[in-house]
Amino acid sequence: MLASPTVASTRLPERPPFSLRARLLTPLADGGTLHEADGLLVVDGGGRIAYAGAASARPSEAEGAVDLGKWVLLPGMVDLHAHLPQLPNAGLGAGLDLMTWLRRYVFPVERDFTAEEASVAAPAAWRAFASAGTTTALVYGAVFEASLDVAFEAAEAHGLRLVLGKVMMDRITYDQTIDPATILDRSLRESIDLCSRWHMRDDGRLRYAFTPRFAVSCSMEMLRESAAAAAAAGAHWQTHVSEDRGEIAEVARLFPEALDYVDVYDRAGGLGERTVLAHAVHLSDRELARLVDTGTRVAHCPGSNLFLASGVMPLGRYLDAGLSVGLGSDVSAGPDLSIFGAMRVGFLSWNALRVEGRVSSSVPGPLRWLRMGTLDGARALGISDAVGSLEAGKEADVIAVDPSFAAPVPGEEDDAAEDLMSRLIFRAHPDMVRAAWVRGRSLAGPGARG
Ligand SMILES: [Zn+2]
Repeated sequence: MLASPTVASTRLPERPPFSLRARLLTPLADGGTLHEADGLLVVDGGGRIAYAGAASARPSEAEGAVDLGKWVLLPGMVDLHAHLPQLPNAGLGAGLDLMTWLRRYVFPVERDFTAEEASVAAPAAWRAFASAGTTTALVYGAVFEASLDVAFEAAEAHGLRLVLGKVMMDRITYDQTIDPATILDRSLRESIDLCSRWHMRDDGRLRYAFTPRFAVSCSMEMLRESAAAAAAAGAHWQTHVSEDRGEIAEVARLFPEALDYVDVYDRAGGLGERTVLAHAVHLSDRELARLVDTGTRVAHCPGSNLFLASGVMPLGRYLDAGLSVGLGSDVSAGPDLSIFGAMRVGFLSWNALRVEGRVSSSVPGPLRWLRMGTLDGARALGISDAVGSLEAGKEADVIAVDPSFAAPVPGEEDDAAEDLMSRLIFRAHPDMVRAAWVRGRSLAGPGARG
């Protein structure tokens, strides 16, 4: 057992207020990184961060704080793309093309995602997100309305910060219970009802995302109506774009009037700052410029993109253009929920493009990836004023990581911030996240909580 024996799980605070003494590592909203080897995090009774900085500046509070020893406090990870019903499939189907994988692996498991199934699967899934170090997730459900209520109820009880939506499909669907003539109206009505029940619940911890699956499975009318409904409710809108060449060709066939894939969503009124598009692997210059101009957000899911041989996103080109990008696990096309894992594959994918001469710039360092997996993800969801970094005034969405899990030999915990983050990315261990809190409330899942 590699875990540090110095911190008993019973000593970890369950509710605010509390103070933790540990190493601190966080991006800062104004740029740069805060790294305190002997840091102090003070969380007030309302679950907000009252102080994050050197312990030496607050000696009396540091004296009474729970001492986490060598553990590292990081902002909770933000996962911008995952599919709740697909979690049981994680790790299956590597190398299939997208459309074959959807038919063979995804639709069968989503078809069975009833409310009863969700009552077991959703609580387990939210614990699994927390175990991976994720405190905020943007997630797709299945098509069945009742399963979404169950999933939201489970998240309400668990404490995860969640943006979730019912998948909408009217062109191809796995739902055999729906009359094709009424599917659009029904799907839209159910989505609007779910949004009215759950969007901004618990002071905005739970939010709703209208979720048309992708252009292949949706009519223009469904895309347009869902985008309008999201705008009217001030809710999010999420879908997939430009993931795989076969899919892109199919979209061109289905929407001959559109200039390209992004233009399909543009014509539907779907682009903008409340929209997160997953993948965006093969964007043309025109598509990229249009996403930047409209402030549309993109979820980069490098593990998924290699798993299904979809392609390698030219992230450097996108960042240079000013695109808003965060990271997504895309379980189950991505094999695990870890955003540390997404950083690792993203980093290596960039290196691969560079080796091939397709990008000239060097891959950014580990601290840039930490920012992408936390603060940039929060920005993509429009909640970076509340979460995404450990800074006074923000809500205390925090994880505690035991770096001994990532050490190659015992005692090799790193002193420099870059080195520490590099180990957490490239030697991420499934049990290294020992605790997670949202608004200072501990989440079930991480090892320290059992
Ligand atoms: Zn997906």
